[in-house]
Parts: sequence; C-alpha cells; structure tokens
Amino acid sequence: MRVIVIGGGVVGLAAADELTQRGISVELLERNPRVGQESSSAAAGILPAHTNEEGPGPFQELIQRGYDAFPGAARRLTRLTGIDLRFRKSGMFSLAFQPADEEDLAREEGWHRAAGIACQRLTALEVRKLEPRVSQAARSGLFYPEVFQVDTGRLVEAYLQVVQAQGARIRVNSPAKRFLLKEDQVVGVETAEGPLFADRVVNCAGPWAGFDAGLAFTIPAVPVRGQMIQFQTSPSFISHVCASPRAYLVQRAAGVLIAGTTVEYAGFDKRVTEEGLAAIRSGAQELAPGVGRLPVQKSWAGLRPGTPDGRPVLGPAPLKNLLLAYGHHRNGILLAPLTGRVAADWVTQAQDHPELAPFGVSRFLAKPDRVVVS
Ligand SMILES: Cc1cc2nc3c(=O)[nH]c(=O)nc-3n(C[C@H](O)[C@H](O)[C@H](O)COP(=O)(O)OP(=O)(O)OC[C@H]3O[C@@H](n4cnc5c(N)ncnc54)[C@H](O)[C@@H]3O)c2cc1C
Repeated sequence: MRVIVIGGGVVGLAAADELTQRGISVELLERNPRVGQESSSAAAGILPAHTNEEGPGPFQELIQRGYDAFPGAARRLTRLTGIDLRFRKSGMFSLAFQPADEEDLAREEGWHRAAGIACQRLTALEVRKLEPRVSQAARSGLFYPEVFQVDTGRLVEAYLQVVQAQGARIRVNSPAKRFLLKEDQVVGVETAEGPLFADRVVNCAGPWAGFDAGLAFTIPAVPVRGQMIQFQTSPSFISHVCASPRAYLVQRAAGVLIAGTTVEYAGFDKRVTEEGLAAIRSGAQELAPGVGRLPVQKSWAGLRPGTPDGRPVLGPAPLKNLLLAYGHHRNGILLAPLTGRVAADWVTQAQDHPELAPFGVSRFLAKPDRVVVS
C-alpha cells in the first residue's frame, strides 16, 4: 500500500512514523524547504492531561488519551535518535490574580477532580514556597503535578530522523496543489512535479488543510496566530510551568525561558506585533515581576490549525481514500502521537475509533447553520 501524507508538521510526521512502522510506503509532501517550520516549532510544548476550557466530554477524553500516549512515544523517539527532547514532568501552576480568575480555578478544580485529574488548590504562600519567583500579587493557585513539557523543535527533529530511517520519502518544497479524483475516490495528489498516485491520502496540512477549493465540500480550517517571547535567564528562572488566563511561562532549558501567548484570528499573517508582544510581557510580569528584568532573545509567531468550533478534525472525508487529521489548535503537540496512531489505524483498517466520531468533518458538513466561530 502507498500513502501520501500532506504536511510535515508534527502531526504529519507522527502519521508517517506510525505508517512506516507498519510497513507502509509513505511519501510526505511539505511545501516549505524544511519540515516542522510552522506551528509545530512555534509551540510552547506544554502537555497537560486536562483542558481548561470546558467540562468533561469527548474533548477532555481525547486530551487524556493524547496525554497517555505521549510518554511512550517520546521515550521511543529518544531511544531511536539519541535526541534529548527535554521531555520532563515539570508540573504546572494555574494562578489567580483577580476574583474572576479564582472563580475559574474553583470551577476547574471541581470538574478536574471529578474527572480524576491530579490537582491541588494551594494558597499564594504555598505556591511561592514551591516557585519563589511567582508574584506576591498571586491570590491562589491550582497545582497540576502531572503536566509534562517538551522541546518542540527537538521533537520535530527526532520525528524527522525516525521517519526517514523507517523509509518514508520526504519531499520538501513540494506543495500539494489539489487532490486527484476518480469518481468519488481520491487516487493521489497533484504536485509541482506532476501527479503523484497513492492508495490513501492523509491531509495533515494544519491551517492550510482546506487548500483544495475544487472539492464538492469545504475542508474548514482557520489559522489562529500565537506569539511568543524568549528570554535569557541564568540558569533557571522557574521550575514549573506557570500560567494565568493572560500568559504562561515555560523554562525550556537552562538559560531559556519562553512566554506566551496570544490567540488571534488574523488570517495567514505570521508577523509578531507590538501589541501582541506587549500583552505577553504584561501577562508574564503579572505572573513573575522579575521577567521585566530579563533580556529578550527573540520573539516569533505561529499559526495554530483552528477549525470553526476549535476542535480537531479526525477521520475519513466524504471522499473514499482521503483521511483528515488537522485542526489540533492549541493541543497539536500533545495529540500528535495519538493522531499518528489513529491515522495509521484508519489507513490499515486495523481499528475503528468510534470514540472519535464527535471529531468527524461531518459535524461541519451536515449542519453548517450550527457552526459557531469561537
Ligand atoms: C504559540 C503557540 C504555542 C503553542 N503551544 C502548544 C503547547 O504548549 N502544547 C500543544 O500541544 N500545542 C501547542 N500549540 C499548538 C501546536 O503547535 C499545533 O496544534 C501543532 O503544531 C499542529 O501541528 P500540525 O502538524 O497539524 O500543523 P503545522 O505545524 O502547521 O504543520 C502543517 C504543515 O503542513 C504544511 N503544508 C501546508 N499546506 C501544504 C500543502 N498544500 N502541501 C504540502 N505541505 C503543506 C505546512 O508547511 C506545515 O509544515 C501551540 C501553537 C502556537 C502557535
């Protein structure tokens, strides 16, 4: 069997990894000169087992499954490549600075505990004992001891090395232009070098997943910009991920602190803005005033793959042989190993995933009047 994977972000690489592990011939198309140069390397790499957006349900279950799948995948990538992914269980503080933040924490603590997610409410004093650089203005915190973090640039590099070693052909500078159709089947992809035929195509093109406007249905994808700042510290500024509703701080490595982020619907515009960076700086200093004295090393922005309802699209398209695996929005690093696995299950028909039915693209196609833009 021959499979084309469109998109060399972490999701496409994870799909190529799982497919080649199962002995399937894979060609991965990446339109950029290198893989992983979009959202996948822009990300902070925070890996929680929980969402803080809503209560229990299919999305929380998906996040939990993604979280459970990650450590094994990370360990295997390190074993095969020798790359230190800086994968570690750092734990995370969700901090409250305003009465409204405290209300959010109380609500989150309630349903997270009920869902079996390890978390502990701490007073401001208790937080600062564990994380002394947190601001004295913090009112209280929720501590999540099981949160991991990973270096996303290293994750991409490890995936690339593994899929190449497993025989995948990576074609860079090779944008997929449109799908090749035979009646109601996808039989390949038109590329700059001409037609490329395959038994299955997996679309992992992130916010660009809707690139083929010639289909009878729309693949709904929305770019959601996120900006980041990297500060120089010596050696470590914090030990845990620290977050509020306005910003987060992650100690990526000794000497490297990153702060994020914005959530902006600004089209396919990857520029950083003064406004965005000022908002991150202000949120970061609210968390830990000492950030204000740290030298800025660099800043960047990435386009998260969003969808009209903010949830991923995972599953077969309404065209035979085409699978969709995109739209992971703020959780694509966490969900990559799991997504790679289910994409390979669908391709090989090894396993159905009825639990993923809520994430099918049909939710947009069947009831377009009920789509909510978040
Ligand atoms: C600032 C920021 C912070 C984040 N923090 C986290 C975090 O802490 N934890 C977490 O889990 N997630 C986080 N995310 C989200 C995460 O980065 C994304 O969900 C994830 O990287 C999506 O991966 P992807 O492979 O689907 O998309 P992408 O990384 O966008 O990859 C898609 C690839 O497809 C290629 N492509 C597009 N069109 C075509 C085409 N026609 N032909 C060929 N190739 C094509 C693109 O060039 C790109 O390389 C963050 C994102 C941002 C921006």
